[in-house]
Formats: sequence, structure tokens, C-alpha cells
Amino acid sequence: MVCRICNSEAVRELPIEANVHFRGGNALNTPALLLFPRISFCLECGFAETRICERDLKEVRKLDALASGANQIRPTASVS
Ligand SMILES: [Zn+2]
Repeated sequence: MVCRICNSEAVRELPIEANVHFRGGNALNTPALLLFPRISFCLECGFAETRICERDLKEVRKLDALASGANQIRPTASVS
């Protein structure tokens, strides 16, 4: 594998632990999400990238919606 930033061949894929914190108006009531993806690291320039599996992506979408309050009914502004 070659780094797509610096073209170095010093790229290694390693497992990591990622604790995902969500942002939004309801973030304090949204649990963090632990993920264990494999990440490709370039040992020359530090570029890193990953792709998470569909199961984890579903959890990210669900918790992101919860944190942002997307599933809640928001009060509408009144016009007087
Ligand atoms: Zn690189």
C-alpha cells in the first residue's frame, strides 16, 4: 500500500480503539460509542484513514441523530 499524500510505501494497517463523542443540542444525553476499526497509518507523513463497517456506521447515524435532536419535535416560533 502506498500513501496517497506523500507516496511513501511505509504504510501500516493497525487496529485502534476510538471513543466517538457526538455533538449537538442533546449531546449530554447521548452515550459515547466505542469503535475498533483498523486504520492505515503513513509512517512518513502521519496521514491516517479508515472505513468503518456498516453495522458501526448504523450506530454512528443513530447516535448522531439522537445528539442533534433530529428525532425530537422542536417548538415552532410564534408570530404575533
Ligand atoms: Zn504519507
